[in-house]
Parts: sequence; C-alpha cells; structure tokens
Amino acid sequence: MGEATGHGVDLSGAEIRGGLEDRNPPIFLPRQPAASPLLALDIGGTLIKLVYTASCGGGADGADLRFAKFERRRLQECFDFIRAEGLLACNGGTRPGGENMTLKATGGGAYKFADDFLEKLGVCLDKLDEMDSVVSGANFLLQNIPGAAFTHMNGQRNPVDVSPNNLFPYLLVNIGSGVSILKVTGNRKFERVTGTHIGGGTMFGLAKLLTGCKSYDEFLQLSQKGDNFVLDLIVKDICGELVCQKQGLSTSTLASSFGKVITSEKKLTDYKPEDIASTLLSAFTYNIAQIAFLVASLLGLRRVFFGGSYIRGHKSTMENISYAIDFWSQSQMQAVFLRHEGYLGALGALMSYGDPSGENLTLEEKEPHHESAPVDGTSVDEENDSNIFPYLLVNIGSGVSMIEVIGKGKFERIIGSHLGGGTILGLARLLTGCSSYEEFLELSQRGNNLSVDLTVGDIYGGEGYPKILGIWVFGILTMKVMKLKRMSLDFITIKGVPSAESSRSVRGLGKGVSGKPYPCLCNARRPRLELGTFRSQAVGLPASTTASSFGKVNSSKLSEYKVEDLAAALLNSFTYNIGQIAYFVANLSGLKRIFFRGAYVCGHEKTMDKISRSLKYWSKGEVQTTFLCHEGFLGTLGAFWSYENMGIDSLAAHEVIREVLLGAPYTGQFPSLPVTQQQENGEHSTLEGEVESLRHDNAMLKAEVERLQRENAELRAKLVRSGETSTL
Ligand code: ADP
Repeated sequence: MGEATGHGVDLSGAEIRGGLEDRNPPIFLPRQPAASPLLALDIGGTLIKLVYTASCGGGADGADLRFAKFERRRLQECFDFIRAEGLLACNGGTRPGGENMTLKATGGGAYKFADDFLEKLGVCLDKLDEMDSVVSGANFLLQNIPGAAFTHMNGQRNPVDVSPNNLFPYLLVNIGSGVSILKVTGNRKFERVTGTHIGGGTMFGLAKLLTGCKSYDEFLQLSQKGDNFVLDLIVKDICGELVCQKQGLSTSTLASSFGKVITSEKKLTDYKPEDIASTLLSAFTYNIAQIAFLVASLLGLRRVFFGGSYIRGHKSTMENISYAIDFWSQSQMQAVFLRHEGYLGALGALMSYGDPSGENLTLEEKEPHHESAPVDGTSVDEENDSNIFPYLLVNIGSGVSMIEVIGKGKFERIIGSHLGGGTILGLARLLTGCSSYEEFLELSQRGNNLSVDLTVGDIYGGEGYPKILGIWVFGILTMKVMKLKRMSLDFITIKGVPSAESSRSVRGLGKGVSGKPYPCLCNARRPRLELGTFRSQAVGLPASTTASSFGKVNSSKLSEYKVEDLAAALLNSFTYNIGQIAYFVANLSGLKRIFFRGAYVCGHEKTMDKISRSLKYWSKGEVQTTFLCHEGFLGTLGAFWSYENMGIDSLAAHEVIREVLLGAPYTGQFPSLPVTQQQENGEHSTLEGEVESLRHDNAMLKAEVERLQRENAELRAKLVRSGETSTL
C-alpha cells in the first residue's frame, strides 16, 4: 500500500476508459505499476469517496484508477470493501517493522474517524487539507485527462478542451453537503473565496422529509417525473399576463420557489412527491448557480467549473446550472462539469503520494475565533436628502427583488432571488403545518436548528476545520490583488444581467430607468467597496459553523423531528442566504447602503437580526443595513414586480425616511457572530503580526502588479495583432 513519501502516481499517457455517458469511468494509467496499489479517501459530511489503483487484468501493463463511494454512516461497509479489494498491504496493513501503514485522506472524517481506521484496519491516516485536495484533484483532471471536462447546454454535451495555458484563473464551485467556492489561479494556488450552507445536504435533507425518499437516486428519479409549477410561484401568478407584458417580463419567470403553497389549502400529503422533488431540485440548483454567477462576476472570472457529488452527472441539474449561468451572464460565462465531479478531493489526496511538497500542508490546530461585534454604520438620522442615494433596495416578498436606487424616481432592478418569504413560509407550511408567518416565527424561537443542521464539528470533530500553514494565498491579500486584476482586465467585465429570478425562458426586463438596455450588473458608475471589503474566507472554521442546513437529516420520517427545530433551521438557512446574496449584489454595484422591506422581514425581530448579522459579517460592517417597517408598505406583498406600488419614490424625502422607519434604523445587538457565520477571519491579533502581514502583502502585491502589467501588455499586443482593439 502507498506510503506518505513513497512512490507516487505516474500520470503520463493517462486516459479515460469507457463511453461518454459512463459514470465515473476508470482512468487508465499506462505507466503506473499495478503491483503497488495506492488508495486515497475523502471522508465528507455525507459520502466517503475512494480512489485507488488496481490492475487492469490479463497481466497487462499499467493500472486503472478506480472510484467507489459509501455513505458516511456506513463506514463499516467501506472498511469491508477496502479489505475485500485487497487495498491494504498483505500483512494486515502493517509494515515489516511493525509500524502502521499510512493512507492519504482528506475531508472532515479523516479527523473524526482516524481512530476507527487504526483500530479496524490498522492504518494511520495522513490528513490532507480538504480545499487543497479538491483543487489538486480538479487541476489533475483538467491538466492530464483528455475529455475530463464538458459543457451541458440544451441537451447537448460537449467536451471542453482545456489547454494548460488557458486554464487559470477559474472558479471552482464544489457542491457537496455544503458549497465551497474557490478561486484557482494555478497549481496549489487558490483561495476559498466564499461558500454557502445551502448545499446538497440541505436539498437532500429536505427531500427526505418532504418526499419520504430514501436514496439520492430515488430523489433524482422522482424529480424527473415532477412538475415544479405545481408548487412554484411564477411571475404570471403574481401580476398576470398584462403586467408582465408591460414590464417586459417573461410570464414563466420563477418568482418564488414553494410560493404557491402559502395560498393553497393543500397539506403535505396532498402534493405529489414528484412535484416536490422537482421544485426542490430547481430551487437549490438555481440558488447555487446564482451565487456562483455573482461571485464569478465579482472576481471577473468567465469559466466556472462545478464539482461535488450533488451534480452526480444528472442531466437536469447540469442543464439548470448551465442555463442559469448563461442567462444571468448573457452568455459571457460558461459552466463546465467534470466527469469525476464527486472525486476531486480523493483524487487530490491520491496525487499527494510521493509529492514532497505535501509537507507544506501541515495542518495546524486552531482556537475557534470569534469576531468582535462589528461597528454600526451611519445612522439614517444623520442622512439628508442628498446623500441617501445610491442604495440597494431589497424587497422581500414571496421572492426577493434587488433594486438599485440612484435618485428620486431613478431605479433599476438588478437581480432577484426565488428563495424569498414565500419559500420560507411555503416550506414551513409543509414541514410544520403552521398557518401564518407569526406562528412559524413563534415556533422557530423555541427550536434548535442544530438538531437538523450539519456543523463543521459534526464533520471534523470538536476542533473544527483546522487552519493551514504554508498555503500560498491569504484571504484579504488576495482580494486586494483581485481588485488590481479587475482594473487591468476591464474588457472582460460581464455585460449585463437580463432578468431576475431563474427563468425557464430567456427574456430580459427590457429597458432600465435611463431608457437604455440594462447596464452591467457590475455597475461601472461607482467604484466598488474599499479594497478587502469583499469578505473572503480564510481557511479555518470553528466547530459550531453550520456546514449544511438540514444536512443532518437522516430519516425520511418527518414525525421524528420537532417542528420547532425545523422552523429554526428554516429561518436560519434562508434569511442568511438572502443576506449573503444582498451583500454580493451591493458589492458588485458599489453600494454601501441597503434598505430591506417587505412583510416577511419587517417588524420581525429575529428575521431582521439574522439579515443584519449576515450583512455585518460579510461586509465587515461596511454595509449599512436598514429595515423599512412602515405599515403602509406592508400590504403590498407580491407586488414587487410593479415598481409603482413599492413606494420607493417617496424614499427620497428625508421626512418620509424618518416616518417609514420603526424608530432609527434597526440595529440589533450583536453579542457574537451567528452560529452559521462564525468563521476564522484570518486577521492578525497583534500589532507585530499586522505589520508583518502588511509587509508580506506588499511584497506579494508588488510581484502581482508586475505580473499583471506583463500580462496586460501581452494581452493588448495579442488583441492588436488580431485586430480586435475595438472591443477593449
Ligand atoms: P461531502 O464531501 O460533503 O460528503 P459530496 O461531494 O460527497 O459532499 O456530496 C454530497 C451530496 O451529494 C449530498 O448532500 C447529496 O446532495 C448528493 N449525493 C449524491 N449521491 C448521493 C448518495 N448516494 N447519497 C447521499 N447523497 C448523495
């Protein structure tokens, strides 16, 4: 069996064996000796993934790279498989000297189950960083395996030829139990930019509770047969065809996932599991795609690779992701998938056999870090008429609309989200049977989300996800670099965001306020937030961080869960999601002030508190959050497509602002970060540390500026040569 520093994987001549439609086909390695097998594991929050080398049979030269997976709760089956396949050294996994063999392993279970591996298999686990492994695995596939990557659009699957020269930088969205989003700039050069707790675990957890399905395949099959329009609210349902025509909206635009449930008399059992499954799949897939699009826009990246077992080669999942990315980016971005999407971490771990640089990945134990309360922004009381603009108005109705208001009567809808108040209450109805938002909130107050949410501690154990030493990038520094990059790469700015919610048809909103077609989402009129205020997540997550909302749900019997706990988890997951998306949109548009309105948030302290916390966390207190709680605006639920009804014109007047606020802007108390957001922020606590870090940043920035200047000059020269200067 492989050792930590022994022989590695010989990649020369590697190729996929099997047809285009085969799931996780073996990869043939002609130069890899079959006699000394290698095995690496990725033990995630839901699944254990194994990658191993095995003889191709018939005494042929070379070896196959093979793939297998097990549910994490079935660890024993995984042990049995390892033994049965002869993946351990012949003498019980023990070296001649009596020392235990070492297996490369990544993912939280490598920490949590290390003792079980030693006890049951007699092997030690050499723990590798999860993010580093995922990136190594993706880079391995993209750089060494022809045909590993493909696009999936309009039912057409096309291989993507990635040449090493045009691969970096790219965005990697790994959709597992939760979602990690990484900017990859080179081999072992990456940054975990952000992530979301609404991932595969959330969707599958809710699917088990709502449809009774027992396996992921069963869920996917159900979703194929269902019709999401039975539960989803579309734009036509809200404002009728006439208004849609007037506003230039597609009638089938998805306005609120599960939004129809709240106005229906039906109970959970009255809905077909197929329709619920279809709604779940589109709701979560579009949300992840939207976040991926927003982050790629913020970073100026055009190519987004999707990994993680969530995708599972499922056609409509890939279709939805591709469609959403293409739609929002107006074909400026491309979603790319990988044939071995679920095995990126395990592949990365396997690649580290025989790689001496693996030593850089020593992991450090870390103390959970709690960020101090963010400083409140300027009070609206201090505002006057002239400086209230520009701001982002986030209207939380059944769905969510995000509108940039630049002056009296001057506004344009930038984007929206289909996961709004209707989704929260719709799901609450189905899960808890509650009949009003107030009842749902009351339930949630008494509940404990941790009984259904999967935390970092559940995956990794009590210490949480450790901070890594020696990784190339550092959160805030890299974002500074990114900013410079954007300046030099302005010509790839995304052209515009046509409509709002995920839609089934490609149709834009038409004209903006200025009468011109919609301008860039990355609004060029104003600078973005200050350097470094795009909150990037340095590695290291405390055990209490929510990794995946509803990710702990194992049973498909709804009655086994307390309605209070389900309500608490619902409130957490969806309000933080709205806060996070609002932050991305504000950042993209360079807006530092956000007003929230809508019956689902205003006046509900818990909801407002969570949104405020989320914004404070993401923007590091740079974005001011205000809730408009005037009764007069509360009756317009569902009218968010009709701007005239929103009352936002009147927000220009100072007196009105005062009048519509419930007292001063809502400033909840923030004794600590919300559980879902308690992440290590990578800041240095001592002055010396700060100075040292700034020096380091400076040197890195200088080098990066030089590199970018060279790159810029080369690109310009290339464009001039190809006669495309006009596009600059
Ligand atoms: P993790 O490393 O967190 O376990 P994965 O990349 O393995 O993440 O993805 C787990 C997700 O993939 C699940 O939350 C679910 O959405 C989906 N999934 C795909 N296949 C299965 C399966 N057989 N059992 C459970 N979930 C599955």
